[in-house]
Amino acid sequence: MVEILKTPEDLRAFSKNLRAQNKTLGFVPTMGALHEGHLTLARTALENCDACIISIFVNPKQFAPHEDFDRYPRQLDKDAELLASVGVDAVFAPDIEVMYPKDFQTTVSLSEITKPLEGEFRPTHFAGVSTVVTRLLLLVGADKAFFGEKDYQQLRLIKQLAKDLAIPTEIIGVPIVREKSGLALSSRNAYLSAEERPIADQLNVILKTMASEFKSGDAISDIEHRAAQKLLEIGFRKIDYITIRDAETLLPPTIETKSHRILAAAFLGKTRLIDNISAD
Ligand code: AMP
Repeated sequence: MVEILKTPEDLRAFSKNLRAQNKTLGFVPTMGALHEGHLTLARTALENCDACIISIFVNPKQFAPHEDFDRYPRQLDKDAELLASVGVDAVFAPDIEVMYPKDFQTTVSLSEITKPLEGEFRPTHFAGVSTVVTRLLLLVGADKAFFGEKDYQQLRLIKQLAKDLAIPTEIIGVPIVREKSGLALSSRNAYLSAEERPIADQLNVILKTMASEFKSGDAISDIEHRAAQKLLEIGFRKIDYITIRDAETLLPPTIETKSHRILAAAFLGKTRLIDNISAD
């Protein structure tokens, strides 16, 4: 069984015990409804550190009022079982009052990296993410923390905030875990109907086509236009973006750009899917 920690005091006791044994700690923050992507982060943490804590907290601050906070899947018992099978040492599952005490007043926000892409379409999202991740990183005090490339822009901003705020936890990115079809695993895939599944699978196929067109030298605007048309044709309802960007700044590539990333966010029915791949 994994130990369930609920409070900062529980966390302190847990890490004091680890430090006494000279063990390193890895940390994986999640919102639960765990799948193989999360478990891969946990396994990577255990390969890199002596012990691993995973947090499960559905963070209200990163959902806009019209988003899916209320219907976001919650399954702590099943998650704890899955984590025990991977060998995770403890789960930090705080109540809302522990994360945001009544007099909580601080917001952590970043400038440049949060402006494009997700920042344009979910303008309050990243302040919620950076605030909760900062608090979690400081509460847990891990040596290393592991984040998925699935949320590519989020990974970039967390690396930036850890550097800017001198948070002494190394931030490590982990490649996306996918279904055989190429569909990126996501807790939100549970919302997809049987009819929507094969359409969702095409998102990654389209990104791969964009990568090969980019490598053959096609113009970026043409590649993006064709990809957007294709998504709409096969049944995506609304596209937030499908675009080739500078992998560091997430802005349109310039002559200074060293590596390129293709990123997309689009709605299939009510479900918002995101994915990204390297273009180089
Ligand atoms: P979430 O529970 O969706 O907030 O995700 C928690 C962490 O798991 C984040 O760092 C995500 O980027 C990561 N993650 C989610 N899905 C995947 C996936 N398919 N492959 C790798 N990492 C993932």
